[in-house]
Amino acid sequence: MPLPLSQGNWNPCTYARPFIDPRAVAKRAIPAKTMYDTIAQHCGGLQVETTFAYLISERGRFIPNSQGGARHGLDGVDPHQIKRVFFLGAQGGAALLGIQLHPTDSDGYADLRQNTHLDSTDVQLLATCSGLANWHDNGAFCARCGERTTYAAAGWERKCLGCARIEYPRTDPSIIVAIHDQNDRILVAHNTRWRPTYASLVAGFMEMGEAPEQTVARETLEEVGLHVDRIEYVASQAWPFPRSLMLGYRARVVDGAGLEPVVDGVEIDWARWYTREEYGVALKNGQIEAPGPISIARAIIRHWYGQPLPGDE
Ligand SMILES: [Zn+2]
Repeated sequence: MPLPLSQGNWNPCTYARPFIDPRAVAKRAIPAKTMYDTIAQHCGGLQVETTFAYLISERGRFIPNSQGGARHGLDGVDPHQIKRVFFLGAQGGAALLGIQLHPTDSDGYADLRQNTHLDSTDVQLLATCSGLANWHDNGAFCARCGERTTYAAAGWERKCLGCARIEYPRTDPSIIVAIHDQNDRILVAHNTRWRPTYASLVAGFMEMGEAPEQTVARETLEEVGLHVDRIEYVASQAWPFPRSLMLGYRARVVDGAGLEPVVDGVEIDWARWYTREEYGVALKNGQIEAPGPISIARAIIRHWYGQPLPGDE
């Protein structure tokens, strides 16, 4: 099952993070070679000779390069525009940085979540940058003592200036579930916050103390009023917009239980069953829209559908 946010291929070089300052490199305060030497020293002699940067804003927005790709050389980056820099790792002799830019009015950004052509490593690392940027933006103060915190470990930690507590980027586990009936139809639902025709699978955050299978059963009952069993894990993917980990499941309505969805009308305002044929027709005639191209929801639906969805390339 193709999952762009989970299939990148690079070396995260986590051992080098505490010893390098990618901010200084990006702002030309120290030569890139100093960073390469540090990577070689802490990452098993890994040879690195050049630097690429991903330029990002908030919530999945990034600046494509002139060829439509995602990687930029450092030469084209104005040091005054840099808000934060993250060291992401290395691939093929290149050190990879994420550069969070100060917000501007420029419209040179693209939305990662609508992207269909980037390399899977680029997609995953752009998403990682987006999640890290959001985490830093919301982590200025210590949750324990309330003092200011500061950037550390090449962007992978924040350290409290009062009590020295280290805070790490967190991710919130969530479930997403394809609900089927005995005839292998699929249930898609509409959240009241979405565009009128956009429809996706039932999903929700895990609560404290829950196992994900319990979350699947609870969310299904809460959102569409159905009792499910035969809950099976399918696949997972990070969704750092801003900080979720999506655990994908499929489940079946309990034999003999009602099939009529009962929505809460507050979070979900409609849910409908589709056969494969009905779903394809509904997409083609614009009656409904499928989830976005890099989402696990679309991947799970496509897996059930058995072929590319109308609109897939
Ligand atoms: Zn503190």
